[in-house]
Amino acid sequence: MLKLYSRKIEHLSRWTSEIVIGRLTDNINLPFPLRSEAILLVKQPLCDGLPTGFRAYLLLDNTEYDTSQINNCFRLNEELHYLNAEDVVRFDPKQPALSVIYRRHSNSNSLLVTERCNNYCLMCSQPPKDIDDGYLVKDLLTAIPLISRETKEMGITGGEPTLLGEDLLTLIRTLKNYLPETSVHILSNGRKFASEQLACQVAQIKHSDLMIGIPLYSDISNIHDYVVQADGAFDETIRGILNLKRYKQKVEIRVVIHKQTYSRLPELARFIARNLLFVDHVAFMGLEMMGFTRYNIDDLWIDPTEYQPELVEAVEVLAHNKMVISVYNHQLCLLDPRLYPYNRKSISDWKNEYMPECKGCLEEDHCGGFFSSAIFKYSDNITPFLIKQ
Ligand code: SF4
Repeated sequence: MLKLYSRKIEHLSRWTSEIVIGRLTDNINLPFPLRSEAILLVKQPLCDGLPTGFRAYLLLDNTEYDTSQINNCFRLNEELHYLNAEDVVRFDPKQPALSVIYRRHSNSNSLLVTERCNNYCLMCSQPPKDIDDGYLVKDLLTAIPLISRETKEMGITGGEPTLLGEDLLTLIRTLKNYLPETSVHILSNGRKFASEQLACQVAQIKHSDLMIGIPLYSDISNIHDYVVQADGAFDETIRGILNLKRYKQKVEIRVVIHKQTYSRLPELARFIARNLLFVDHVAFMGLEMMGFTRYNIDDLWIDPTEYQPELVEAVEVLAHNKMVISVYNHQLCLLDPRLYPYNRKSISDWKNEYMPECKGCLEEDHCGGFFSSAIFKYSDNITPFLIKQ
């Protein structure tokens, strides 16, 4: 698992106390006027020493340099040696601590916009915190202009992004202005879109490729409300989806499968086909063993092999109604072969792994693999494919 945050950093020079948000460069000949905004990433020894004028210096090797003429020079621990030119980082010289905001060579970048949430889901992988984290948006507004315009997709995640209100609209506008060809995917519980005004405000931005992913856990309101631990959430979420579609916004329904949700998957699929046929995508998702999931493991864990009949039926109901369907976060060897056409490699690259049982498997390239956190618990039925499917 790649570390996106680290405090294993060594001071090598004087440092300033201001937060640095910058794009990494490995160009030691960068013109002087551009250096004051750039962070030099040094991977190989430099015979002529460190060039002056850069905003900060991050060293990945052990070469000793004269740092008397520069500020903000630090050596990074091995866990950050994957960093590359054009990545964007937030660096706090005082701590010191470094957060990776964007990785140029990754196709799973997402921006954490708040840790606050109005749900309290049993399986939340990022448990909400009731804190003032308004600095996150401020930092992201600085970072977005530094991100490569060739980025294909950018996620917005929380917490619950809609709690930001006007700030969320500003973020979407900024993404549209600086990254006009980048798809944006927002993960939201959808409840705030029960306000038609918010759905209308998002639509008015006219982002050319914006999708909002909204979880729905049951066709029965009490079950959905129990899973998200919030009374009335089901009604608000459904009204939110309807409002977004009223304003022609793209909506994806996300269903996390666990002990509380698997048995009614076919009924949920019929509910979606009957009432929400116009949504753009339905994703059935495997469980991530992070955050609250570990605390509630006895109420959540079910081996994926045990819910294949319900999952197959749900997918067939939606497919029969010509809906676009994906199965995310699953190991291929646990899936019913009828689900193979819907299986996607969906786990973000920085937390995607394979287990020792996978050794020799000929289908690893087509398998979603595991979240790094699956080491905590995963199926006993992992069986490598010894023949290509
Ligand atoms: S054995 Fe193969 S199919 Fe099963 S989880 Fe490992 S890589 Fe995926």
